[in-house]
Amino acid sequence: MRAMIKAVLVASLIQMIPFAATAQESADRFRPAAARILGASLQSSTAYDQLGELCDQVGNRISGSERLDQAIAWAVKTMKADGLQNVHTEKILVPYWKRGVEKAWTTSPQRHELSILGLGMSVPTPTGGITADVVVVGSFDELDKLGEAGVKGKIVLYDVPFAGYGKTVGYRVVGASRAAKYGAVASLVRSVGSLSFDTPHTGTLAYDEKLPKIPSAAVTIENSTMMRRMAQRGERIKMHLEMENELIPNQPSANVVGEIPGSGNPKEVVLLSGHLDSWDVGQGAQDDGVGCMISLGAAKAILDSGLKPKRTVRVVFFTNEENGDFGGKGYRDAHKAELGNLVAALESDSGNGPVKGFSLDLHGEGRNKTSTTSPEEKARAEKGLALLKSFSPLLEPLDAAKMEMGGSGTDVGPTVNEGVPGIGVSHDTTHYWEIHHTKADTFDKIIKLDMQKNIAAVGIMAYVLAEMEGTLR
Ligand SMILES: [Zn+2]
Repeated sequence: MRAMIKAVLVASLIQMIPFAATAQESADRFRPAAARILGASLQSSTAYDQLGELCDQVGNRISGSERLDQAIAWAVKTMKADGLQNVHTEKILVPYWKRGVEKAWTTSPQRHELSILGLGMSVPTPTGGITADVVVVGSFDELDKLGEAGVKGKIVLYDVPFAGYGKTVGYRVVGASRAAKYGAVASLVRSVGSLSFDTPHTGTLAYDEKLPKIPSAAVTIENSTMMRRMAQRGERIKMHLEMENELIPNQPSANVVGEIPGSGNPKEVVLLSGHLDSWDVGQGAQDDGVGCMISLGAAKAILDSGLKPKRTVRVVFFTNEENGDFGGKGYRDAHKAELGNLVAALESDSGNGPVKGFSLDLHGEGRNKTSTTSPEEKARAEKGLALLKSFSPLLEPLDAAKMEMGGSGTDVGPTVNEGVPGIGVSHDTTHYWEIHHTKADTFDKIIKLDMQKNIAAVGIMAYVLAEMEGTLR
């Protein structure tokens, strides 16, 4: 019965791929192939099951850890099992930030245990921890107004409500150094996430090398807003913080690479990617085990469809996206000579929400948008976007036809900065930011049909990029 319902669903979705009545001839050429990829994606549970294996058999996998090594070995095996060729690893050195014991509680006005997660790359507290007054701020402006007089010797808490990841994450990334500038002894950040069930959201920080390095941790929305209320009542907040983490530099790691060699022009490459490393809590299911498996699943859907793309489709599972981007930088450096042959570098790294479309990151008009983009580059980027948009009808049955300028991904970023067209997969991220970088990022929250649709969209896009006449450049 279930199989029959599925068959009807697949058939109805395939029928929805329209023959464009307007000037979208290019899309019509790909209609039969797109229908096959869509069917193969919706009928296969392989990528979903494999992600379950990665989550349950390996679990979370921070850069440099033994678990990430296990995941890399698993990825090599899995890419081969899926029928990819030239499967290999490419060595990269990464930092290993190792979490130790973490404890925090308020001592005034009342003892409350606080749920914290140290921020990746943070220094530890001195042995025995830090006990100090807490000063709550809602912005960097408030911090600057307090200055050294209000901050020195204290723990700064940034209680900043989530206003979108891009808008809020700066407090996590540079908050420690901004507070250290005024003599703070530690900093805390309200978790950069849209929801909390006592789940702190970790993530990396970046120190200003010219300033003292102070320990920094994420607190939950519950605890952060409680301390804000205490401050508003004029109560003196004092707390104790202990963090025993350590940083081990230059640990061996690797990007994992596999290919469908091109049948006509194998030197030209379409890259599909995600990152295999994760934070050291939860299972790294949405961030970004699923991005890896969407990319691999898309390649497998092309193979399962019996299609033989002209250009090479290359799948890359990057290492060390979370705290250094050494996988992405290392890939750019190792492949410098062939970057001119990269037709596009696509990355899926915003979870498994319903796929909405793709964002093009080209000639500085996307992720690295700057005022210095020349009118000529802008025009070329617009032309690339128009070409991408001409394939939108193929993605309409998946409700994934939205094409816009925007970000691609952290891992492909260094490559994209060399002029390679970057493409990001756009998802509905409503529920992603609820569990991002928390222990709640686990496999049970992966919705299989959403994942299959993601795979179909990426598979169709990859096939078009590997077959189309022009390029996005
Ligand atoms: Zn990620």
